[in-house]
Amino acid sequence: MTKRVVTLAHYYTSPEIQQMADKVGDSLELSLYAKEAQADIIVFAGVRFMAETAKILNPQADVVLPDAGSTCSLVTQTDVAALTQWRKRYPDHVHVSYINSSAEHKAVSDWIVTSRNVDDIIAHLYAEGKKVIFSPDRNMGGYLNYQYDYDMPLWSAVCEVHDKFNETALNEAFDAVPGEKYLIAHPESPLPVLKKADYVGSTSGMLNWVKNYQGGAKAVIFVATEDGILYNMGLARPDLDLRQAPIYAGCQCNSCPFMKMNTVEAVKRAQQGEGLHIDYLSPEQMDAARLPIERMLEFSQRYYA
Ligand code: SF4
Repeated sequence: MTKRVVTLAHYYTSPEIQQMADKVGDSLELSLYAKEAQADIIVFAGVRFMAETAKILNPQADVVLPDAGSTCSLVTQTDVAALTQWRKRYPDHVHVSYINSSAEHKAVSDWIVTSRNVDDIIAHLYAEGKKVIFSPDRNMGGYLNYQYDYDMPLWSAVCEVHDKFNETALNEAFDAVPGEKYLIAHPESPLPVLKKADYVGSTSGMLNWVKNYQGGAKAVIFVATEDGILYNMGLARPDLDLRQAPIYAGCQCNSCPFMKMNTVEAVKRAQQGEGLHIDYLSPEQMDAARLPIERMLEFSQRYYA
């Protein structure tokens, strides 16, 4: 019998990979899609933690990552044994973890959040009188502490792509544009960059900001996130001057090496069943990791309905 294959691609993959996919989206959109997918094989053109999340939400499916090397610096910089010790220092706190984390990491978390719902979920916890610790992204956590005057203890890992955006280079790029200009930024970027932004939000949030843009036609819009999303933004608004924010003077280039391991050949092979099969998580690990994810999904359904 022919196997039903569904291919998912993250916005940070290259345009030709996105064109091969049944669904293109950010972490949350792809997780929700994977959960409901009627598929024997889910090819996840993204990175490993995303494929693990898909497997946790749809354990019956054979989830395949095209290239086993597609990890994420937020995962590689987080030793889960050390994280578990750190968590023990705050027994009366709720442990909120960004979805960019391994299954093992999720299993020692109380809540999972994405860049789309992190503000609302943490505000909800504080409104209930809870104390919160946040991992693994210190830039995202630092921005939340700054923005809302929280005092969350933070784990210290960064996205090696977003952490490179640089305030000095950005100032120089701004100075070189005489007219109207904007900056939109992903919260994995450093705080000095986020403080300058006209909008801070998730990949989908930034895409919506661009779609709905109604400012001057000649404005330059700098985008501080991975370069793959510029493709989707350009498709949505070909009339706009969209530029990736610089990481050093004169450079508008910041690409995730892990996302770009999803080559056309690797994705085609994965569609034939080759690649890293996410079959190494025990049922107990998946159950422990699913709980905080389901908490987030349930909150999102209730809160955004
Ligand atoms: S862009 Fe950053 S957070 Fe996203 S997968 Fe790459 S290293 Fe990880």
